[in-house]
Amino acid sequence: MDQSPQAPLLTVTFWGAAQSVTGSMHLVELGGQRILLDCGVMRGLHGVRPHDRHFPFDPASLHAVVLSHAHVDHCGNLPSLVRHGFSGSIYCSAATQELLALILGGSARFHEEEALVQRILARPGQPEPEPRFTGPDVDRAAAQCVSVPYDEPVSLAPGITLRLAQAGHILGAAMIHLTLSEHGHTASVTFTGDLGRRNAPLLRDPGSVPDADLVVMESTYGGRTLEPLQTAVQALEAIVRRTVEREGKVLIPAFSLGRTQVVVDALQRARVAGRIPDIPVYVDSPVAAAIAAVYRRHPECLDEPSARLLREGGGFLDGSSVRYIPTQEESREVSQRPGPSVILAPSGMCDGGRIVHHLKQHIDDPRASVVLVNYQAPHTLGRRLLERGPTVRIHGRNWNKWADVTYLDGFSGHADHDDLLALVAPLAGRPCKVRVVHGEPEQAEALAGALRERGFRDVGIPERGETVAVP
Ligand SMILES: [Zn+2]
Repeated sequence: MDQSPQAPLLTVTFWGAAQSVTGSMHLVELGGQRILLDCGVMRGLHGVRPHDRHFPFDPASLHAVVLSHAHVDHCGNLPSLVRHGFSGSIYCSAATQELLALILGGSARFHEEEALVQRILARPGQPEPEPRFTGPDVDRAAAQCVSVPYDEPVSLAPGITLRLAQAGHILGAAMIHLTLSEHGHTASVTFTGDLGRRNAPLLRDPGSVPDADLVVMESTYGGRTLEPLQTAVQALEAIVRRTVEREGKVLIPAFSLGRTQVVVDALQRARVAGRIPDIPVYVDSPVAAAIAAVYRRHPECLDEPSARLLREGGGFLDGSSVRYIPTQEESREVSQRPGPSVILAPSGMCDGGRIVHHLKQHIDDPRASVVLVNYQAPHTLGRRLLERGPTVRIHGRNWNKWADVTYLDGFSGHADHDDLLALVAPLAGRPCKVRVVHGEPEQAEALAGALRERGFRDVGIPERGETVAVP
């Protein structure tokens, strides 16, 4: 008897972060439903590509979205999805749900202002530029969010179960595990999202990668070893001590979500232990202040020492010497205030945000230090600061680069090569397929090669638009 080939139980199509690190977006089809994992923008907040407006599927056809975490390259395109017809539920952890409102709200204001500027600059007869999304789109997306506790299975549709596991990358970050049970068959997929480092302070460690027929795994730092966090902390403490001795300021460009909290926490621990002097630490970002409050509301994501500190009221991401700066005026005043201090301000790559005026104020001061704790992409001011040369160009003018500039990669919130392998090691020898995403080709290849060496038989690096099926 002729039999038509059976449709696979589950497929995943990779629509973003395929052989690259931005625009995370994967479409899962199972049990007659379409579920989107992540909905990120291609290039962070300020450099969005046109195809972020055009989805390769009909947003209205999606049953649900599941988010791994609140970084914009994983969630920043969600309001566009809603604007283009998606009306289903958005599942994420409770902390991610709170962070989303803050992150996407800021993003909407940026797009509205950008569209306004383009409208003013537009020639007569040109089509009216539309913002990519607006505040009401963000509000609708927020209203569609459903929070899911870690490690508790939740039913998304008949036969489809979702479970979130700790990913340890930023507050609220989760690995996503979806299972389909249908007519006595089961199929499952795990998406790691971004994974955090093992044994890092502040957040709980990532759990082991949940077993599944298909594992979609990030590879940001495949093939690379990051310096241990403790080494980076010691280096930062030494820089602070040296800079205070010469009465200078320590400038730390940092993104408001993730890296800022890790650095503030490290500085506080150092101050309490007497390893750095008691100088003011200014966090020059109203968003970072709101984010710190979200951290304090979610002890379920914190490691035991941090949760204890929070319970006992010992000043968690806060305290006598830490001050969050609300206004631009105060930001300028703090920069000019005499005496040593530490100033953290966005953006992490110095390509905008309040850090730029602090740099203009202090980059030619030989007493000052600049500590870069984020990756610095090519063509950003942060990258120019790291390049050799006596001067640096800021806003069209050359400034003497007399401040001491250091890059510390150990503050990364990402698992490195050994961390990634350790987290997935329990699955070695299991018959699962692994697809490596969220890495530049060199990093993805390095991780894929190491996985094959460790006994994973079916490992691939999908291209954008490629589909993989289970079974
Ligand atoms: Zn991330």
